Amino acid sequence: MSDRPATGRILTGADVRRDVEERPDVCVVGSGAGGAVVAARLAGMGARVVVLEAGGHFTRGDYKMQEAVAYPQL
Ligand SMILES: Cc1cc2nc3c(=O)[nH]c(=O)nc-3n(C[C@H](O)[C@H](O)[C@H](O)COP(=O)(O)OP(=O)(O)OC[C@H]3O[C@@H](n4cnc5c(N)ncnc54)[C@H](O)[C@@H]3O)c2cc1C
Repeated sequence: MSDRPATGRILTGADVRRDVEERPDVCVVGSGAGGAVVAARLAGMGARVVVLEAGGHFTRGDYKMQEAVAYPQL
């Protein structure tokens, strides 16, 4: 499984300098265990999906497998 979606884009807070308007079929709030699966399944079925995530953006390579570092990232 890839760290990034095959299509689409990721905007972090630093990328957003003005209002962003999207017209998705579905908006999923939270990219945790539930939201990520729902978003991936819907996108795989062809829906246009926006995911809003309050937390930071981390990929597999960011996790150092040390609890003190990794838990706050989770
Ligand atoms: C230390 C720890 C270890 C665990 N270990 C395991 C394990 O080994 N196996 C297992 O099956 N389960 C484990 N769990 C439980 C598992 O993590 C949860 O059951 C699961 O993550 C819940 O999924 P969720 O989608 O409901 O919420 P989460 O995974 O918590 O996702 C919620 C997401 O929504 C985001 N969010 C919240 N509010 C907003 C908002 N207003 N706007 C935008 N984004 C928002 C949050 O930042 C977060 O990313 C563990 C939990 C903890 C705390």
